[in-house]
Amino acid sequence: MNTREYYLEIAKKLKLHTDPFINGQFVKGSGPAFNTINPATQEVIATLSSNTAEEVYEAERIARAAFEDGRWSKKSPAERKEILIRFGELMMENREELAVIETLDSGKPIYDNYNGDVVESAETFKYHAEAIDKLQDAITPGDGKHVSMVVREPLGVVAAIVPWNFPMQMAAWKIAPILAAGNSIIIKPASLTPLSILKLAELSKEAGIPDGVLNVVLGSGRVVGGALAEHPRIEGLTFTGSTAVGKRLLVQSGQTNAKRIFLEMGGKNPCIVMPDVKDLDHAAAEAVNAVFWNMGENCTSNSRLLVHKSIKDEFVKLIVEKTEALRTGDPFDPENNLGALVEIPHMNKVLNYIEIAKKEGGRLLTGGGRILEETGGNFVAPTVFDGITPDMTIAREEIFGPVLGIMEFETEEEAIRIANDTEYGLQASLFTDDLSTAHRMSRTLQAGTVSVNCYAEGDIGTPFGGFKQSGFMSRDNSVWANQQFTELKTIWIKL
Ligand code: NAP
Repeated sequence: MNTREYYLEIAKKLKLHTDPFINGQFVKGSGPAFNTINPATQEVIATLSSNTAEEVYEAERIARAAFEDGRWSKKSPAERKEILIRFGELMMENREELAVIETLDSGKPIYDNYNGDVVESAETFKYHAEAIDKLQDAITPGDGKHVSMVVREPLGVVAAIVPWNFPMQMAAWKIAPILAAGNSIIIKPASLTPLSILKLAELSKEAGIPDGVLNVVLGSGRVVGGALAEHPRIEGLTFTGSTAVGKRLLVQSGQTNAKRIFLEMGGKNPCIVMPDVKDLDHAAAEAVNAVFWNMGENCTSNSRLLVHKSIKDEFVKLIVEKTEALRTGDPFDPENNLGALVEIPHMNKVLNYIEIAKKEGGRLLTGGGRILEETGGNFVAPTVFDGITPDMTIAREEIFGPVLGIMEFETEEEAIRIANDTEYGLQASLFTDDLSTAHRMSRTLQAGTVSVNCYAEGDIGTPFGGFKQSGFMSRDNSVWANQQFTELKTIWIKL
């Protein structure tokens, strides 16, 4: 890593895109202009133009024309593969700039953006590119008088709506498999963090993705997101964001053309520490990372820590020590672990949850409020509450900030019951030294990903998505993601 001053110098020289990217060009939208703001300073970074609903419809016509004339959809798998690999390589060639844009726009630490988000986004393109010419169709036994083939066809035009917490990475998780499967895409970034996706659009052109195949529309969720959701022809809509908006998209699909809907939504993820764990120091380090990574602005944040009564005192001491060792501050300082929360209203929402926890009887062990106010930044100290019970608000609602609630349990059954007692089911972490306990509990936990003796979401080769109200018919990553953006077709040929 380089120094804070080095990255700030790059930030000063950035040439940012501020208009939607449609048909291979950055074109000013005629909707209301909007600002994007640096969460660490409140400075306006850029003023962007947004689209009207009619311009979203025009983007669909462009994406459809591109799909239908086959400039991408009918390219040979080898050609598509080469272009998407190049896209990933270009991201790595622009690694510093992408990391700086992301830090500026979202408040996420430069260390994480440089070492995590950019690298993993580039890998996402390379993975899905490599899958293109390796996924195979099928010939079924049939009846001997016909040839029976099962093939996959791209959906057509697929829309994607993504959130602000991992702007570039969530975009990569959508764009790469959608394009790998041969579709055209219209993507809408969160209005709080549109800048890195516009840079990706520039790189997509340089990589050789034909004009009209990848389009970025800008504007509010209600107007621009709504136009995508209610469009009468768009064949698919993939979404990462809140459960409330995701459920609304399902209704809009049902009221229009039954477009395929893929939802990745909220989480209220448990971390369970069983009494047999010997290396409590390791478990505590993982548990602290699991809740506070990305300032807790993370759908898999392990904001509920369930610790067995027999080890609780020792474990809680370690949690507090490790939390207090985290550095929060300027996200451009590579030494900082936590940066700024994305915007003032979101920070206030998190601070309100802290107040609710205090009122409901939570015992504040460390943190508990805003810090570094003099910088103007949205910094909240990583906060730990003990004495949380499963019915308290911070044990039930997604906070999406650096707030941990610790609960205790006495039996395995009780731990599972508390862990599963939520409307969500995205991720769960489990710490145990007993192999049978690991197998038994990981099968009983209701979550799309269960990590054992570590905090993890899997990797690009494993499907990522949620049970219950954390997801709907969707998995990001892995070959399952490529396949969900296709329709299965049976071809039955008489001999
Ligand atoms: P959000 O409010 O649901 O917004 C997500 C996206 O939806 C943004 O682009 C937003 O646009 C758009 N949107 C808002 N209202 C809309 C509407 N009525 N119609 C269509 N689109 C609309 O969520 P967020 O606050 O950005 O993100 C936080 C949430 O995302 C959390 O709940 C978190 O758990 C979830 N998340 C889930 C995963 C996962 O993989 N499961 C990953 C990351 C985040 P504007 O920005 O313009 O409003």
